Amino acid sequence: MIDFSLTDEQRACRKLVGDFAQKEIAPIAHELDEEQRHSPEIVNKYFEIGLLHYSVPEEYGGAGLGSLDGCLFSEELGAACGGVAATLGGNILGLTPFQIAGSPELKKELLTTHCSGPNLAAFCLTEADAGSDVASIRTTARPQGDEYVINGTKRFISNGGVASLYSVFATEDPQLGYKGISVFMVPAETPGVSSGKKENKMGQRATDTREVIFENVHIPIRYRLGEGNDGFKIAMMTLDESRPGIGAAAVGIARAAMEVATAYAKGRIQFEKPIAAQQAIQFMLADMAIKVDAARLLCWHAAWLHDNEHRSSKESAIAKCFAGDIAMQVTTDAVQVLGGYGYMKEYPVEKYMRDAKLHQIYEGTNQIQRLVIAKHLLS
Ligand SMILES: Cc1cc2nc3c(=O)[nH]c(=O)nc-3n(C[C@H](O)[C@H](O)[C@H](O)COP(=O)(O)OP(=O)(O)OC[C@H]3O[C@@H](n4cnc5c(N)ncnc54)[C@H](O)[C@@H]3O)c2cc1C
Repeated sequence: MIDFSLTDEQRACRKLVGDFAQKEIAPIAHELDEEQRHSPEIVNKYFEIGLLHYSVPEEYGGAGLGSLDGCLFSEELGAACGGVAATLGGNILGLTPFQIAGSPELKKELLTTHCSGPNLAAFCLTEADAGSDVASIRTTARPQGDEYVINGTKRFISNGGVASLYSVFATEDPQLGYKGISVFMVPAETPGVSSGKKENKMGQRATDTREVIFENVHIPIRYRLGEGNDGFKIAMMTLDESRPGIGAAAVGIARAAMEVATAYAKGRIQFEKPIAAQQAIQFMLADMAIKVDAARLLCWHAAWLHDNEHRSSKESAIAKCFAGDIAMQVTTDAVQVLGGYGYMKEYPVEKYMRDAKLHQIYEGTNQIQRLVIAKHLLS
């Protein structure tokens, strides 16, 4: 049996986040974008409604919610501001390796503290010369007595300069390729950790994106997650889990663009009637609705598989890829429906288009998603 209905709790939480997003985020989204500003106030308020660390089990101070819940929240946040959605989603992404492979003792020590306040985490995988080719990372983790010493620089890290806890992927032996990678939790206050200058981005400008630099950073061996050399596997499991939520944020951006385009088409008079009376415009709006609905269902399906402990690598890649691609198409068409006004910053659709673009790039480009999907088809 297939049941697409949400529980009362899911509907209530979605409404809570939707109302929060429209009241606290949407009114300042343009300003955050213009000023390229991270908003700690929004993070504080999201913490106050109890959902900042929603995926963390209650015993460690989170809300103990699942991936499908995450999709509901991401869509609402994405509809208000793609950048803020990435900030809040980046926290969950940074914590996911910890949840997958952290020992109960380490979770009690670090995760409980993290979840007790409006703290953000960040996921540190990418480097200047290791983007799609994750296995080629050069950040090193050398065992020294009962510690590891980490050295290296991570690039394009969401929440890079505002996180208090990093999950850091580093190699214990570069000769081993992906088999030499381990992952560590590193508190930002550890001596030797610093962040670079803020990146000046096309979109999602409300997220703080920076280099994160590790110079002779000493951490106890117990801060390693899982066994040594498990890092690549943990990274892939993390991305399988996070991609439906990333896709859902793209669905939110696309939905918002569709809503603005629809309202505009009804009010804009040309040739003595609303442009919505033109079939060419109606078809564009209809295609937007088809794409938004299809993408949402793919995200929900992948998240449902994960929540029910089925393998979801292929479905997560499909969801992230499709949602990112349709967000780009829908936002581009929304600009078209608004004509010259769509190109101006007085209307939100040009921001949606800039924000949507990143969904084809981060958490694995959409070419890499297609490689993942093809690998599953061909294996
Ligand atoms: C704003 C922003 C925020 C980010 N946040 C984070 C973060 O929080 N944490 C983190 O670790 N990373 C983060 N990233 C990094 C992001 O995941 C990488 O940028 C992405 O994986 C692509 O890597 P790259 O930029 O090095 O591109 P490259 O890997 O150099 O790719 C360049 C182009 O070549 C294509 N390509 C590469 N290899 C193949 C192949 N085998 N087959 C076909 N095509 C291929 C790619 O699809 C792409 O089109 C972020 C990036 C951005 C821009």
